[in-house]
Amino acid sequence: METNKTEYQEIIKNIREIFHAKENEFIPLHAPNFRGNEKKYLNECIDSTFVSSVGPFVDRAELDLIKYTGSKFAIACSNGTSALHIALKLCNVEQNDLVITQPFSFIATVNAISYCGASPIFVDIDEKTLSLSPEKLEAFLKAECHLENNVCIHTESGKLIKACVPMHTFGFCAEIDKIIDICNAYFIDVVEDAAESLGSFYKGKHSGIFGKFGTISFNGNKTITSGGGGVILTQDEDLAKKAKHLTTQSKVPHAWEFFHDQIGYNYRMPNINAALLCAQLEQLPEFLAEKRTLTEQYTELFSHFQDIQFLKEPNEQHSNYWLCAILLPSKAERDSFLQMANNSKTMCRPGWELLFTLPMFENNCVMTDCSTAIDIQSRLINIPSSPYYAR
Ligand SMILES: *Cc1c(COP(=O)(O)O)cnc(C)c1O
Repeated sequence: METNKTEYQEIIKNIREIFHAKENEFIPLHAPNFRGNEKKYLNECIDSTFVSSVGPFVDRAELDLIKYTGSKFAIACSNGTSALHIALKLCNVEQNDLVITQPFSFIATVNAISYCGASPIFVDIDEKTLSLSPEKLEAFLKAECHLENNVCIHTESGKLIKACVPMHTFGFCAEIDKIIDICNAYFIDVVEDAAESLGSFYKGKHSGIFGKFGTISFNGNKTITSGGGGVILTQDEDLAKKAKHLTTQSKVPHAWEFFHDQIGYNYRMPNINAALLCAQLEQLPEFLAEKRTLTEQYTELFSHFQDIQFLKEPNEQHSNYWLCAILLPSKAERDSFLQMANNSKTMCRPGWELLFTLPMFENNCVMTDCSTAIDIQSRLINIPSSPYYAR
């Protein structure tokens, strides 16, 4: 332990140097950065009075996202959680259904499942991608589920499995092609929770455009931000229309009449948030390049410390490195590193508590062997990852 102490102090000192931090200056985990047209576009919004739920920046943000991701359709939403909720509803996820996801994710993934009245099935993550494991997924479906009239049934509970939500953790992509092949064989729809992976590509294609839906978040801690915001990606025109409709209070478009043909949601992205998003999207390539530089600096730094592993992007993918992460040898060592770093005003954070340990899911989920998630969660630390500091 004593040797680790000096080793950790040295690492923390080096991280602070990478970020050019002054003595006692706080280094956040991931801070937003505004150095482009943000103020200009926000002023345009205010001057035009179009600050609310319609306006030219919303249309432009959707088109910009289509261009960047290669998605056929994009529907701007109030946040990433609402985007996921609508995607799951359009996969016909209903009361008492089951939805497969990973236990190592932000709460939003599983909250969206709960909003539909469904419960999660927790399937383990892969140690390289930190995202849903196709092998564990297939093993679970083979052993514990069966098909009836092209519907996947969880044999023990008799419940229907409607969807699977892999999450591209910290910008590392799940092996999404394998996951989709497996899910297709079981008639399960795939919604990619790509909240963290704007700018991450798998086999040359942007994350979020493989599944029936993909959803991205523009919350303040993500790679770029609209204050609050999200987007639904889909390749199907009919689903895109339905998604827009549901997020717009299910209002049938008409110049003055108010007719709503089903229960809808007020999940639109306001124009003022879209203005911020348009300005941020212009800077995305620059932010991603700076995060790459930071990754190279971290790779060099951690190459000098044998028992700490800096997590690199898996083969066949290009990560946005949204949050950089290291693995320590044990939970005790993780905790002492966390203590020292945060004492030194260098924000470091453990991975999320595993979702099946939270009170609302303890007795309300289907559990499978999650040994990899349990191991990784106990040893992982996210380290400062903002782009601009690394210049
Ligand atoms: C950020 C995030 C979301 C969406 O969050 P919002 O704050 O609602 O935009 C969803 N899933 C994951 C994994 C996230 O990290």
